[in-house]
Amino acid sequence: MEIQGLKSWGGHYKRPLIMAGPCSAETFEQLRETAYGIRNHGVNIIRAGVWKPRTRPNNFEGIGVSALKWIRDIKAELNVEFAVEVANPLHVEEALYHGIDILWIGARSTVNPFSIQEIANSLRGVDVPVFVKNPINPDLSLWIGAIERLHQAGLTKIGAIHRGFSSYQKTRFRNVPQWRIPLDLKKTFTEIPLICDPSHIAGNRSMIFELSQKAADLDFDGLMIETHRQPDDAWSDAKQQITPARLGEILGQIKFRNPTSRNKEFISHLEELREEIDHLDQELYEVIANRMKLVDQIGYYKRDNNVTIFQKNRWKEISNSRHSWADKLGLDPEFMDELFKMIHENSIKRQTLIMNQEIEKTRNVS
Ligand code: PEP
Ligand code: MN
Repeated sequence: MEIQGLKSWGGHYKRPLIMAGPCSAETFEQLRETAYGIRNHGVNIIRAGVWKPRTRPNNFEGIGVSALKWIRDIKAELNVEFAVEVANPLHVEEALYHGIDILWIGARSTVNPFSIQEIANSLRGVDVPVFVKNPINPDLSLWIGAIERLHQAGLTKIGAIHRGFSSYQKTRFRNVPQWRIPLDLKKTFTEIPLICDPSHIAGNRSMIFELSQKAADLDFDGLMIETHRQPDDAWSDAKQQITPARLGEILGQIKFRNPTSRNKEFISHLEELREEIDHLDQELYEVIANRMKLVDQIGYYKRDNNVTIFQKNRWKEISNSRHSWADKLGLDPEFMDELFKMIHENSIKRQTLIMNQEIEKTRNVS
């Protein structure tokens, strides 16, 4: 599905689209110093949480409107854009009043269509960029639904942020990435920018580079990385934040590849190679079809001679020989073992059908 009207916005920001900044705005100095550091590494979109959705009560829940005033001053001084999270119409009103450039909707809001509809209604007539984080639970429809609600309210600059999915089981991630889901979202909405938030996926700073590179390899359009002047002293999400200096290192090391190239020679050579692949795949299918014809022939032969379908020694022999062929041909033997097992299983299934047909026939006669 493609939603009309979202097309032109991809080029609004240069790719990769990088947002970095603290989990939460804490003090004017913390925010200003962090923004300075980040801007010095070439990033000019600063994120900052102003209202914080905390899982348990009685924690720091964000500075609120006073932080928006700090942001206004810092924007004027540094010539950067700011993104903040909004969770209700009041947040939207305050953020827009204080000149916030980009809004994002947090994972805890995306799960709730009532909240999303209220936010969408409050944004009617204001075409501000809005990024929608995936819902906490791995439900692609909820994510799509939130984007549709915003679009129906007239917004055209909509983006998505992948921040991983909650799971009860302990894993090495704070939120499991389940990359298939954001990639399916990208297939649904081909034109909207999709960025990755490795900080909330990882939950610790040691995995930020690895996850960012993975997102770049999967053709994400950018990153949102939690960055703090003194991560260990952060008032929220201390373990996963990195310093502006580390952000600079990571951005310098990531290889962002192009989804395609304008180079004519590259395009025509790629087409040639793809044509060759298509031919080979066709041959591969024909070979499998011929193999299955032989399998059927053997099935009838076994049936007529009252011989079992599965023959242990034959299976041992062929799996050994195929394993060593894989080795010799430079193929991954484990992968080829799996593939061959599937082909063999399907062969047995066909021969079983042939045997059963015979049983049916004798039953009908008696
Ligand atoms: C955040 O970005 O600080 C945040 C609360 O994220 P999420 O909604 O992904 O949990
Ligand atoms: Mn956070």
